[in-house]
Amino acid sequence: MDFDVAVVGAGPAGSVSAKEIAAAGYKVLLLEEHDVVGQPVHCSGLISPRTLEATGLDNDIVLNSIKGAVVYTPMGNTITVGGNRTHALVIDRALMDEGLARKAQEAGAVLALRSRLASMQRSDDGVRLHVQRGSEKAEQKIDVRLVIGADGSHSAVAKGMGTGQSEESIVAVGGEISMQSQHDDMVEVYVQPDLAPGWFGWTIPLGTDVSRIGIGSDEQGRNPRRLLEGLMESHEHLRDSSVLRLQGGVIPVAPLRQIAEPRAMLVGDAAGQVKPTSGGGIHTSILSAKICADVAIEALERGALGEEAAARYRTEWMRTVGLELYRGRLLRHMLAQLTPVETEQLLQLFTLKEVCEVMAAQGDIDFPVHLFSHLFRPAVVFRVLRALPLRLWPRLAWLLVQWYRKVSNHQPGLQ
Ligand SMILES: Cc1cc2nc3c(=O)[nH]c(=O)nc-3n(C[C@H](O)[C@H](O)[C@H](O)COP(=O)(O)OP(=O)(O)OC[C@H]3O[C@@H](n4cnc5c(N)ncnc54)[C@H](O)[C@@H]3O)c2cc1C
Repeated sequence: MDFDVAVVGAGPAGSVSAKEIAAAGYKVLLLEEHDVVGQPVHCSGLISPRTLEATGLDNDIVLNSIKGAVVYTPMGNTITVGGNRTHALVIDRALMDEGLARKAQEAGAVLALRSRLASMQRSDDGVRLHVQRGSEKAEQKIDVRLVIGADGSHSAVAKGMGTGQSEESIVAVGGEISMQSQHDDMVEVYVQPDLAPGWFGWTIPLGTDVSRIGIGSDEQGRNPRRLLEGLMESHEHLRDSSVLRLQGGVIPVAPLRQIAEPRAMLVGDAAGQVKPTSGGGIHTSILSAKICADVAIEALERGALGEEAAARYRTEWMRTVGLELYRGRLLRHMLAQLTPVETEQLLQLFTLKEVCEVMAAQGDIDFPVHLFSHLFRPAVVFRVLRALPLRLWPRLAWLLVQWYRKVSNHQPGLQ
């Protein structure tokens, strides 16, 4: 064997898995198809303070702090949420990826840039990788005991495993515009289905005259660049800004059922390990990478990299991360059934004092579903019911029954 483990893709999921396994004393190869780690950037770089801590990186990668959100509703109203404390950080995503890859190298992993996995074959004894290096036509063969696919939403490892891609995805575009934002510590979220069908648009201030911007849709035929033009055209404060940088991207919002097979595991976007309500994937990638690495280390130690190890990763991941994502996906599906008027009425509930207080105290971008359990306090429910238009009552009751039935009956196999 050339290496114990090959990790394909030096994004956060890949670098964290590589670091953990190398630190346990195994020979790890980290393959990255680009010339440098972290480029091009396909991400708006909004993370929780908890995620920064999990990276082990310094504050130098932080560009701004975010205290809340201004939500633009379907009927063109605005609602301010939060604002009381730092809920999120805006980071330099390229610096984060570089830092994580450096940590993997310091732990002993070998980073191979300009190295693209073209295909792979698994056998009972190991995995043979076919890797294209730089502009060379010939493929290099590398033999490893285990392969970890951290190679994003179009994963070559997932293809080699025959598991396919995420069943649901968002076509998105993100970038930067010149814009003096109206609030230096508030993101803007555009929940406007005519502009962003099935998803939303956003701006994130950097605290300078530049803001990040993005938009997505769950309708696969949509051109997200056109959606961005529409968003900027229809909001006066965005209309005069110029676009400085844009990058398209795909956000997988349904975890794959088969995230592991004998001698192969998927992690991060490659496994669809992304929050289905917001599209945030950095926190879940890092958490999932640690679980994946722990299972891999134990399996390497025991020399048992077959179905048992694959099943353990699936179970451990579902227990610690998957359930929250599964519930997030249910929530997304339920909210998608609302008409624009119903969405407006629901969003207006966030202006109620009792709901604002729960949001301020419990709002957590890493665990959006948890917030809903906190909203089921008698005082909040009573206030919400009083404020809710009568004709929304049966609709809400129906959604809650659906939610309860699915959450209590379903053994999530995902997808
Ligand atoms: C527009 C947009 C905005 C987003 N904003 C946020 C945000 O604000 N906050 C947040 O938490 N998440 C955000 N996300 C999601 C987040 O970017 C991803 O969930 C996260 O990057 C997943 O990390 P990863 O390591 O799994 O994959 P990636 O970061 O995609 O890394 C995969 C790596 O694999 C490499 N690779 C791919 N194929 C091969 C191959 N065959 N051989 C070798 N290398 C290969 C790639 O070059 C890449 O470096 C956003 C996504 C998009 C599209």
